Amino acid sequence: VITPTQQDDPLQALIRQMARLPGLGQRSARRIALYLLQHRTDVMQPLAAQLDMAASQIHACKSCGNLDTIDPCRICRDDKREQSVICVVASVADIWAIERTGQFRGVYHVLGGVLSALDGIGPDDLNIPGLLTRVRDQNAREVILALGATVDGQTTAHVISDQLTAKPGLKITRLAQGLPVGGELDYMDEGTIGLAFAARTSL
Ligand SMILES: [Zn+2]
Repeated sequence: VITPTQQDDPLQALIRQMARLPGLGQRSARRIALYLLQHRTDVMQPLAAQLDMAASQIHACKSCGNLDTIDPCRICRDDKREQSVICVVASVADIWAIERTGQFRGVYHVLGGVLSALDGIGPDDLNIPGLLTRVRDQNAREVILALGATVDGQTTAHVISDQLTAKPGLKITRLAQGLPVGGELDYMDEGTIGLAFAARTSL
């Protein structure tokens, strides 16, 4: 039981929660907390309601890992998209980046990251088994490894490719080189991503 004296000061608690967000330190957390409290009805309360609604209504698609209010997600259940062409990405942000190009008409598979010795991310931390199952069940004809031009992204692409090559008739491709070195999809413009898709090469 937390007694009022032990309970955190709500302002400090708010700042501490804010500071946990990526890219924010204590200083920006304090600035944002102050801004919110000064814009209580027009910003803070609508934001709180929106956060609450998003937390309860938006979930990961059990098939591909995309975020949506329905499961399977809208992309997975769109029968105008080619279910046999699966684009493997590290995160949902990459789906958004690729969708902005409007050029890809297949489906996605979110790994949940890329292999990284530095960050302690191993094969067991990524949804690779789910991908292998989908490749089999959806009778995939092409798997596009869109894992960025980072060293970790390329390593991950090779590890996945090794596990997929046993399947005959399956084309494994990756986005064309010429992407900025160290580049992550989320930071690229639509034109660059579109070109990399159009000129994808076999792995
Ligand atoms: Zn999905």
